[in-house]
Amino acid sequence: MRLRLRWNACCLLAACCWVGPLPAAAQTAAIERSAALRLPPAPPLDAALDQTLSRLQRLAFDRPTQALQDLKRLQAEARNRDFDGQLLQAEARIQLRLGQGEQTLAIAQRLAQDAQQAARAHVLRAEEADYAGRSEEAAQHALKALEALAPWCAEDRPAQQVIQQGCDFRNAWSALRLREEKQGNDGALALAEATARRRLDLAEAGQDDFMRAQSLGALALLSQRLEQPEQAKRWITQALQLAQGQPLTQAYVKGQEASLAARQGQIELQVRALDEALDLAKKADAPHVAAYMQLSLADANLRLKQPARAKALVEQALPTLLQYGDRRPERTARNNLVQSLILLGQFDAAHREIAQLNQMDKDQAGKAALMEELREQGEAWASMGRPKEAIADFHQERKLNAELVARNRQSSLEQLKVKYDSDRKQREFDLLVRDKSLVERQLANRQLTQQVGLAMAVLLGLSLVLAGVMVNRVRQANKKLKANEVLLRAQSERDPLTDLANRRYFLAVMEQQQNPQEASFNGALLMIDIDHFKHVNDQHGHGIGDVVICEVARRLSHAVRAEDLVVRWGGEEFLVFAPDVSQEQLSALAERILQGVGATTIATEDGPLRITVSIGFAHFPLPPSNLTLPWEQAVNWADMALYTAKSQGRNRAMGIATVDARDTDALTQIEADFDAACSSERVSLTQVLGPQAAQA
Ligand code: GH3
Ligand code: MG
Ligand code: MG
Repeated sequence: MRLRLRWNACCLLAACCWVGPLPAAAQTAAIERSAALRLPPAPPLDAALDQTLSRLQRLAFDRPTQALQDLKRLQAEARNRDFDGQLLQAEARIQLRLGQGEQTLAIAQRLAQDAQQAARAHVLRAEEADYAGRSEEAAQHALKALEALAPWCAEDRPAQQVIQQGCDFRNAWSALRLREEKQGNDGALALAEATARRRLDLAEAGQDDFMRAQSLGALALLSQRLEQPEQAKRWITQALQLAQGQPLTQAYVKGQEASLAARQGQIELQVRALDEALDLAKKADAPHVAAYMQLSLADANLRLKQPARAKALVEQALPTLLQYGDRRPERTARNNLVQSLILLGQFDAAHREIAQLNQMDKDQAGKAALMEELREQGEAWASMGRPKEAIADFHQERKLNAELVARNRQSSLEQLKVKYDSDRKQREFDLLVRDKSLVERQLANRQLTQQVGLAMAVLLGLSLVLAGVMVNRVRQANKKLKANEVLLRAQSERDPLTDLANRRYFLAVMEQQQNPQEASFNGALLMIDIDHFKHVNDQHGHGIGDVVICEVARRLSHAVRAEDLVVRWGGEEFLVFAPDVSQEQLSALAERILQGVGATTIATEDGPLRITVSIGFAHFPLPPSNLTLPWEQAVNWADMALYTAKSQGRNRAMGIATVDARDTDALTQIEADFDAACSSERVSLTQVLGPQAAQA
């Protein structure tokens, strides 16, 4: 799975890399100003200490033990000072990087006792949840932190102004980052973009280059998701310029550049950016950061069909991340490992890894991420000729999708119900409306992807049936692979009225089934046409005509076997392709169709209608001399038989029993005058009567 949901380079260091403290004079001014505005006094912030702590917390991401030692020294020096809040928060963050999340929470608990430190406590809880991979909980705490910060950091006032009034902009920035991630995961992209812009404003006003670069990178990714690639390019270019000369910052931004390239499908650019990011991380002596880059590289290698390389990269990165107690990317890493193992044919090992994945908390991953996981695994299984696992994944994915659709509908309704009373809120409302249509588009896309998946499952089943007639296993595997490609196009190959396959889909299957050089169609075809359908339209209108077509389609699907393909060939014409059927079974199939459609009336608004069909059918190669012919010609033979069924009185099936022809030239002659060939008994036909005709 791509790390894009979880991996924004900005997620990593979060708020721990700031430089550029608030000057003392500005702080005094802030106190005066907040008095003038009747704000409560801002929580104390020691600017010089702030700078030292920022350096320490940055160090802690890769060297937490050393950072803790340095901090202890500072704490000893700072005894009796009034700035515990800052020191404690720094300590809590270092503990987190040491994998000591409980310590982080204990410190948060202490801070929470002091109303002035409430925001710090919430930010810490949010960061702990985020680091442990509990993103929903992280977002909840982030929102509380923003509430606590609101008196000084009001979002509708210019960033410069709020910082001068004592807004702890770095904590605000951290909380906004988590809110933004949640908005992004919920598909509220326009809101996420507004949050990212606010982060950028705060970072610029606070003159923090690292945060600026991070915010710019996040904006680039969001612009891309909002389908604004030019804007995305501008943001990332700015971020890259800003990061110049600072290897660690550069490594992060390169990571974001890689995510952007991945989203744009530019895999070479993605790999190049990641290679550079990895080098930079190593240069900055940052093994934790390097592990993230390795995970992203593993993902790219999977898409480059290099499972062995991907597996090696995950196996390098995962222990490093776990050693730091960093569980955010664990699910992604394990999913990539599963895919690598499947693609390497190590199925038992893959199943063991899947069992591990299943033990992890599913609720925290988010449904969209889980669906992507299942889709990727399903594709990997399918490509290795394991339809059972692929179809199981597909069904799970569909189930999740149904839940997601229901939840998103509900939440966008709830969002829209919120009352908006000021200009700012009106702007947010506009953004929400924009988001809603985006969410809907995304949902539609997701459903399309699922339909492709369904078609894939169908064709996998089909190709299993065909397996018996395929010459050798290599050819079979190749065909299956090609079949999957065909099926990925099948989305546009479905008939919207009846949901049956359409003609284009049938063509794709034929391309698949038939060797173009050999022109040898194999199997049976039944061409079916509704009798006197024009009367239905004329007497009851097109709407009822459509209802009848749909019901006939449904009855056809019911009458055929699982391995048969029903195609809406044209207006009220259908074609059934039965790939593996004997002559006797074929007549029985034709009879089932006649009965299935015609035996009971179709209920419509105008009352019940009696509808019958006529069928022409044939088995190929044509008996008795087993002449082979291309599928187009095979369809023509079924059509000629249908024409005969119509001319004999309708509501019946006519099948080609034998053809007296030695070669293809003779066949072509017969086609030129089919009626004459039937009369002269060069062609003998089988007749199967439909329900009413049988009574008559
Ligand atoms: P026959 O028994 O010879 O087949 O007679 P028929 O009236 O069914 O003749 P034919 O098959 O030529 O008629 C097809 C009619 O189906 C003509 C067209 O207007 C109608 N039709 C084609 N597509 C649709 C559709 O999607 N919806 C509806 N309601 N009618 C359609
Ligand atoms: Mg017709
Ligand atoms: Mg008709």
